[in-house]
Amino acid sequence: VQGFEGATVAVLGLGRSGLASARALRAGGAEALCWDDNPAARDVAESEGFTCADLTRPGAFENVSGLIVSPGIPHLYPKPNPVVLAALRAGVPVDNDIGLFFRSFATAEWQNFDIAPKVVAVTGSNGKSTTSALIHHVLEQAGRGTQLAGNIGRGVLDLDPAVDGDVIVLELSSYQTDLARALTTDVAVFTNLSPDHLDRHGGMGGYFAAKRRLFAEGGPDRAVIGVDEAEGLFLADQLSEGPGDDRVIRVSVAEKLSGPGWQVFARKGFLSEWRKGRQVGSIDLRPIRGLPGTHNHQNACAAYAVARTLGLAPKVIEKGFASFGGLPHRSQIIAERDGVTYVNDSKATNVDAAKKALGAFDNIRWICGGLEKEGGLGDLAEATGAVRKAYVIGREAAGFAMQLKGVEAVVCNTMAEAVRQAVAEAEAGDTVLLAPAAASFDQYDSFEKRGEDFGAEVKRALGF
Ligand code: ADP
Repeated sequence: VQGFEGATVAVLGLGRSGLASARALRAGGAEALCWDDNPAARDVAESEGFTCADLTRPGAFENVSGLIVSPGIPHLYPKPNPVVLAALRAGVPVDNDIGLFFRSFATAEWQNFDIAPKVVAVTGSNGKSTTSALIHHVLEQAGRGTQLAGNIGRGVLDLDPAVDGDVIVLELSSYQTDLARALTTDVAVFTNLSPDHLDRHGGMGGYFAAKRRLFAEGGPDRAVIGVDEAEGLFLADQLSEGPGDDRVIRVSVAEKLSGPGWQVFARKGFLSEWRKGRQVGSIDLRPIRGLPGTHNHQNACAAYAVARTLGLAPKVIEKGFASFGGLPHRSQIIAERDGVTYVNDSKATNVDAAKKALGAFDNIRWICGGLEKEGGLGDLAEATGAVRKAYVIGREAAGFAMQLKGVEAVVCNTMAEAVRQAVAEAEAGDTVLLAPAAASFDQYDSFEKRGEDFGAEVKRALGF
């Protein structure tokens, strides 16, 4: 990262992104002053030769030129972080690793190829990872050089400028867009919006505002916007300069869009692209195994739209879709036996994602429950039409089961018990689906661990 040479920059939070920020600052000739409440995290930073200093002490921000905050640290809500407040009071600019990336992206290091890479960023409540990975996959299959990073496995500061690729695909969560001082993308995607992380953003308005920063003044040349919620409709309207403008591509899986603008929508499993009132592309999504359900058709529409802005033909995109295997823990088919399909959607940590998963399959034996999110189960009951029986796990399993009105539910508590019962009762044509509608932290370290446990229990129950 350039622009901080000889300066001291504080880094708060020493997880993956914090350490990557510290390394990038050091590589740019700055001194990184690191802090994390957790002594073990500080040990890791010190073992890499970084100086750790308590940023909560008075005067900690004297002679400091910036503060880089990890996305995992709430900075403003539910209450302001004291270190962030101290920096702000001392007039020290606050940023994050995403801001550092865009700062460095503008420098010669990244721009010295004949054609500077384009940056595609994906945000939204659900479908970010799937959409980002799908864009990356389609581009790769089309022989385009591409790197994928952000909220998905690899930090943005670990991207390699020396790789001769023409597209960088970033998945950005609201935690990341919220603080970044620079978000200069070429193409930005807004998949959808539903309540999540509300405590962190001071409510729905703050949550939308955080995502919207990706499209603020001087935003992307092209915006791909899911318009199935009112927020997306407003965003699309604000970004377009009038009817027929092709800066905005509207995406829907709820309706057939009309008008002269550029739009991509899917209905009954058929994707179609319209421009200037004419259909210019289509894909039958139904045979594509890696993208089951309407929610994945939304992801497919968004990825398709991005690929079109990058010059790919519909046939090439269709070929890329066909070889997409899906992402682990997201509507992932993990086994098929005696006509029963086993699906791992451990990533359905909120009600909306679980509703989508429930809508994608028939005759469902549904494993659900865990740590309930704020707002409880909301309107989840509306989506349980295809559920034959619910097998409820988690510390609050009994309370969770009580809320599932109109669904036959049995309290199983553990994954092992839920899988054992579901496997024993499943009949040909059923889908055993893990889609918890809750966080995993009551029983697991992460949703990945929960999904792996499901897979292991399914294998055990089926005798693999
Ligand atoms: P994110 O990265 O935004 O969390 P993922 O692609 O990892 O999104 O999917 C998260 C969860 O949401 C999964 O359970 C998945 O089945 C569900 N999901 C995926 N795409 C969508 C979508 N477009 N709308 C609603 N839910 C979705």
